[in-house]
Formats: sequence, C-alpha cells, structure tokens
Amino acid sequence: MDLNNIHTGKNISLNGHTILIGLMADPIRHSMSPTMHNNAFAKLGLNYAYLCFEIDNQKLPKAIDAIRTLDMRGSNISMPNKQKVIPYLDRLDESAELCQAVNTIVNDHGILTGYTTDGIGFMQSLKDEGLDITGQKMVLTGAGGAGTPIAMQAAIEGVKEIALFNIEDDKWENAVRNVKIINEKTGAHATLHHLEDQADFKKELASCDIYVDATGVGMKPLEDMTLVADPTWFHQDMIVYDTVYAPRETKLMQVAKQAGVDHVFNGLGMMLEQGVAAFKLWTGQDMPVEYIRNLLF
Ligand code: NAD
Repeated sequence: MDLNNIHTGKNISLNGHTILIGLMADPIRHSMSPTMHNNAFAKLGLNYAYLCFEIDNQKLPKAIDAIRTLDMRGSNISMPNKQKVIPYLDRLDESAELCQAVNTIVNDHGILTGYTTDGIGFMQSLKDEGLDITGQKMVLTGAGGAGTPIAMQAAIEGVKEIALFNIEDDKWENAVRNVKIINEKTGAHATLHHLEDQADFKKELASCDIYVDATGVGMKPLEDMTLVADPTWFHQDMIVYDTVYAPRETKLMQVAKQAGVDHVFNGLGMMLEQGVAAFKLWTGQDMPVEYIRNLLF
C-alpha cells in the first residue's frame, strides 16, 4: 500500500515497522479522519497508518482486545462505542472520566488509556483565534456527544459559569448529570435551564460572554432553523460558536453576524483540533495544522 494516493507530496511506503492506528465506529466510511491523520504522518515522515474499522457494540470487545494483541498505538472511537468502550479500558483521563465517554485510546505497552479530545479541540480552536474564555460565562445548548465534552473541558480549563439549556427530550437526563458533575467535580458553577423557557434563554444570553450551540440545529434536516432568530438577543462583544460545520455558515451564524457579533465560528476548528490533540497523544508530535487545514477545508 502506498500513501501517495491521498494527495500528499511525499511518498511514504508502508513497511514491516509501520505502526497502526484505528478508527472504530459504525457507520464510519464517511470520516475525514483517515485523510487528516495519514496526510499528517506523510508530511512529517512518520511511519504510521490510520485505518477505519466498522465496529459496532457487538464487535467492540474483540476489537479493543486487538489493539493490545496487534500492538496498535491506539484508536479513535466514535458512535455507537463512545460510552460502551469504557469497561474495556485500563484508565481514563480527567475529561473522559467527567464525560463518561471516550473518543481516543492510547496503548502504552498493553495499558489502554481513554481520552476525550472533542472538548480540548473546542477550547484550542478558541485559543487559535486568540480568545481566552477562562473566568467567563458560557451559555450552552445541547448535552449530547458534542455538548458534554465542551461543557466538561470548559469547566476543567477555568470557565467560571455555564448555563446549560436543553429541551425535554431523551438527552435531558444527560443535561441533569452534566450540571451535577460540573458542580461537584470542577471549580465552575453550572445551572440547568429549560430551552422551552425563551424569556430565561434571552436573559442568560444577554449576560454571557460566549454562546455555544451543540444541538445540530442548523444542519440537515434542520438547516433552515436556528435556536436564536432575533439578533437583538446577541451583543457585539460576545462569541457565538456553532459546532455544525456543514453548512459552513449556519442560520445561527447569520443572525450573529447581523447582530454585529465580533467573533462567530462554525465547528471546523473544533473538528480539526480534536484530531490534532489525538495525533499528539499517539505520536508525541505536533500535527502540521495549517497544512492539514488547507488540505481538508
Ligand atoms: P447528540 O444527539 O448527542 O446531542 C444533540 C443535543 O441537541 C441534545 O442535547 C439534544 O437534546 C439537543 N437537540 C436535538 N434536537 C434539538 C432541537 N430541535 N432543538 C433543541 N435542541 C435539540 O448529537 P451530538 O453528537 O452532540 O452532535 C450535535 C452537533 O454537534 C451536530 O451538529 C454535530 O455535527 C456537531 N458536532 C461537531 C463536532 C465538531 O468537531 N465540530 C463534534 C461532534 C459533533
């Protein structure tokens, strides 16, 4: 196999020393992660290969065993395995422990540690823009696969206050849990709110420094929707961050720009930086971020 076919200038041939990293999820063939990591390995001349494996909950125990058996360096983990993988690991880092979810495994001589890099990616994407939200107030909508690590990492890194809004659906219990964990295990103060209470939502937005939408409203099939339709609910000196990256500009972002908000972001930075963090954990090296950003986006 030859990595030259994934549009890179370098021609790295795999050989007997190549180190394998996986991505275990189902479905998974659509993922951009193999392109991201294999091009970064090639650019830095690292003898690693990153491959997708279609792994559901049933195949998961044997797949995790295979990480040890095959002496793989690790794996990314995505749905439906992010929570189910925990009993098969030896250790969890702080964020994975708080989220009770794992998206990255590192294998150190048979000891498997689970990490969650989505929240790290979110925080790093703000730092990339020169923005520091420590000591500030966040309003967050969503308590699922994206909202949970964002809330936990923000709390770990020193965000002072998090007002978490959710609808009363099957993720409401997650929201209850997230607020409890943040208040018990971090220095941040979290409050739980019903998104249905629009007056409360408007009030909390008026006093926040950053609003993050981690609901997926704004992407298919809800691409014409936004949880904030009135630009007067925003103020100029805040950050508005949508975790959606397709489309690149969501309705929410359009409303924020209409309001003259200084800093408006989609989820591309978070997506890229969660990969950068995993890459560092596996290889100890910094991903060539700008090279990969230009290649992918
Ligand atoms: P999820 O299903 O785990 O959670 C969705 C959350 O949104 C829940 O809290 C749910 O209650 C809420 N929600 C659902 N429909 C809603 C509605 N109509 N109105 C209000 N709230 C609603 O999903 P997820 O995995 O957390 O993904 C959420 C979004 O984040 C998706 O758009 C996904 O593409 C994006 N995402 C981005 C990144 C990134 O790196 N940028 C990473 C993961 C997810």
